[in-house]
Amino acid sequence: MEKKIFERPLIKKLQTGMPNKFGTKTEYDPITDIDGVAIKGLMAQYGSPLFVISENTIRETYREAYRAFSTRYPRVQFAWSYKTNYLSAVCRTFHQEGSWAEVVSGFEFEKALQNGVAGKNIIFNGPDKSTADLTMAINHGAYIHIDHFDELFLLNELADKLQKKPKVSIRVNMDTGIYPQWSRFGFNYENGEAWEALNRIMLGKKLELVGLHCHIGTYIMTPTAYGIAASKLADLAVGLASKYKHNISYIDMGGGFASKNTLKGAYLPGSDTCPSFDAYADAITSALINSSISPDHIPMLILETGRALVDDAGYLLSSVIANKRLADGKLATIVDAGVNILFTSFWYDHKVTPAQPFGYHTEDMIIYGPLCMNIDVIREYISLPPMKKGDHIVISRVGAYNMTQWMQFISYRPKVVMIDMHNAVHLVRENEDLSYVCQLEKHPEHLNDIKPL
Ligand SMILES: *Cc1c(COP(=O)(O)O)cnc(C)c1O
Repeated sequence: MEKKIFERPLIKKLQTGMPNKFGTKTEYDPITDIDGVAIKGLMAQYGSPLFVISENTIRETYREAYRAFSTRYPRVQFAWSYKTNYLSAVCRTFHQEGSWAEVVSGFEFEKALQNGVAGKNIIFNGPDKSTADLTMAINHGAYIHIDHFDELFLLNELADKLQKKPKVSIRVNMDTGIYPQWSRFGFNYENGEAWEALNRIMLGKKLELVGLHCHIGTYIMTPTAYGIAASKLADLAVGLASKYKHNISYIDMGGGFASKNTLKGAYLPGSDTCPSFDAYADAITSALINSSISPDHIPMLILETGRALVDDAGYLLSSVIANKRLADGKLATIVDAGVNILFTSFWYDHKVTPAQPFGYHTEDMIIYGPLCMNIDVIREYISLPPMKKGDHIVISRVGAYNMTQWMQFISYRPKVVMIDMHNAVHLVRENEDLSYVCQLEKHPEHLNDIKPL
């Protein structure tokens, strides 16, 4: 064999094309496969539209986040935010990676139990916990994060009734420089309400105070806000240690890290502006490590990260139904995925990519969903190669808050598949059909026969 000639290594600046006044061209390459599985084949087998979840992306993203925190802090625990995506296949992947469950309703609590999560690994958040929900949580030894005084009083009663000492934390809201401030959940730090709750718990002696919790908002693009929040929780922990000689076992910083999606109206794409897990981890762990918390009682750091862990792992495949010209001459492309299954299209400009090869010509267009509703717009303004009926598109970063907030409206919700680590495809949720949608309905007997009376 002939010896190949030596080429010296060189560093070359990547050129992705000249921007026009709207920024760079939307897409350069089609997405023809996900994790090595051809999109054409997926749609032929499972229909259109279709949600696709990449198990590989979930695991890689989780590991990246875990590494960012665990290399900076001795004790780190993630708890999967169920409301972000509670498909069993998704939750179980996170649990297999070591995540606990973070739930905000009795339903989600039951789903976590059904997924095999032990009560001691469930964090129960939210403003709506019924007596039955709290009883279930206490009996399973879950961590109950108290939202308001009425819940605190109810827990005191239940502790007496059940002869148990429930494990509780309080949720704290605070000024972190993020406005509008979320003060509707938990107890306020600045006005002393948080201390009032802590004092009542400590003096009441019926509840076991195990931690402090906050969740300062969602899609927070400034890591320093987390540094401020962590300092304020650390300050409460130090106060508890000095006043009551009581050391909490964890500080839970909630979720809220931004994902790489682009918010509507944002000047730059989210993939350029989204802070890294390292940046968030730096802000949080520095604040904790530099606080006055005693080194002998370093609390575990819990994170309830939702969207930043799963958004990239979800894709929505859809097909072009038709093209038409609006009265003003603008090109409109109608696809078979609407806002009823893509809730996040109300606040994100989702990345839309053709799934088949295309030429260089692009045109400004609006992408409509299939609903007979004027609000059914997937992208108001996008520059894409013109597509024809039957062509496919890939909508990226749809893993968070779509497969939970989607609604059955006008048509059936589609199938969801997961591509596993070996590129095998698994159906993880069936599409709906008439019998599924109607199974809870009944009608009074006099409407059996619809012949006019
Ligand atoms: C929704 C929620 C989360 C997850 O938030 P993301 O913004 O998706 O990271 C975490 N904790 C609580 C209490 C929540 O309500």
